[in-house]
Amino acid sequence: MKSIPLHWQILISMAIGILIGIGLSALQFTSFAVQWIKPLGTIFINLLKLMAVPLVLTSLIKGITGLKDVRQFSSIGIKTILIYLFTTVVAISIGLVCVNAIQPGKKLSAQVRTELQTKFAEFTLQKSHDAQQIRQQSPLQPLVDAVPENIFKATTDNRYMLQVIVFAVLFSFAMLSLPETTVLPIQNFFDALHEIITKMVMLVMRLSPLGVFALMAALIAEIAGNQPQKAVEILTALLYYTLTVIVGLSIMIFVIYPLLLIVFTKQRYSNFIKGIFPAQLMAFSTSSSAATLPVTMNCMEKHFSVKPSTLSFVLPLGATINMDGTSLYQGVAAVFIAHAYGIDLSIADQLGIILTATLASIGAAAVPGAGLVMLVIVLEQAHIPVSGLALIFAPDRLLDMFRTTVNVTGDMAVCLIVDKNKTIK
Ligand code: ASP
Repeated sequence: MKSIPLHWQILISMAIGILIGIGLSALQFTSFAVQWIKPLGTIFINLLKLMAVPLVLTSLIKGITGLKDVRQFSSIGIKTILIYLFTTVVAISIGLVCVNAIQPGKKLSAQVRTELQTKFAEFTLQKSHDAQQIRQQSPLQPLVDAVPENIFKATTDNRYMLQVIVFAVLFSFAMLSLPETTVLPIQNFFDALHEIITKMVMLVMRLSPLGVFALMAALIAEIAGNQPQKAVEILTALLYYTLTVIVGLSIMIFVIYPLLLIVFTKQRYSNFIKGIFPAQLMAFSTSSSAATLPVTMNCMEKHFSVKPSTLSFVLPLGATINMDGTSLYQGVAAVFIAHAYGIDLSIADQLGIILTATLASIGAAAVPGAGLVMLVIVLEQAHIPVSGLALIFAPDRLLDMFRTTVNVTGDMAVCLIVDKNKTIK
């Protein structure tokens, strides 16, 4: 397989994984997929996650200390956060336009609604419970959570990525303000460490065809279970909803990001997609922006020669707070559930959804299924019954793959905009 480019290898193994997953499910061998294939995928995701903290730490320190000017960094920071907010609001608005135009909620029969509610009642309870803990916090809790009290603790869990970012930024600022001779040994140390971690990422990426195959085969087998026809039945009932989310996500990928890139950079879209494709495939197969982070950083550095100071800040921050796909899906899901319950939402209600979905997507962890938990908060704010979560559970794992792909595409588009890489390749 040596001469085949990596993204083709990944695509081929993805296809083989899907076929094997369908085959195992049809033969009622789901437990084989779960016990013997899934662990390989889990090992691959763990290896990717293992890279995240050291990569973010070393590349941020290398990037910022390379700037030689604190003001330059502040301007990158403000610009990045504003563009992230902008793309998130655009994404939710597109989601709302799509769901109001297609109205999938009104196409769901009362009988299917009751069936789904009974089937997924327990799951709804669990998600509401998870959201309950988040809801009881102060609105400023995300800010409090971003500041670590102990750096070693912050590096023990990928969910504390923002804390690692805050530490690395402070550390680099302190280095910038000290004489070069004092900090040189530390700078050399982090530069070398960064090279080593980058090399480790490349090594892990060689395993990606195998990892992606295992993830897809296990996922398909799990979704389909030993009764694939039953799964197909449920998914067909929710076809309009699923399609609405996918249409919205496609508008982001094929209209909004190309427009932004044309207006703010001179990057050709075909070249953009070519450069980010490995990261998109990885996001699709892992459903985790955090696990994909080493690959997004690699793509931006290798294919687009983005300045280390930009990519090392913009991408980790984006993986944590910028989730265009997730916020779009939350907008669609909220209106879908409301319509399914016969609730018509006013413009003011929908503006409220834009606000809470923006906050919810910022607060959502970059891991599979996080968007679903945060959706509870969006539903409650809009006075939509939380029991409606049961209606959208079945296709959620599938939609997670698509929305995570959009999440990382958005991060990479913004990274290029902030970097103002004006070269046409
Ligand atoms: N899985 C998504 C991500 O990691 C978050 C979500 O929407 O559940 O970006």
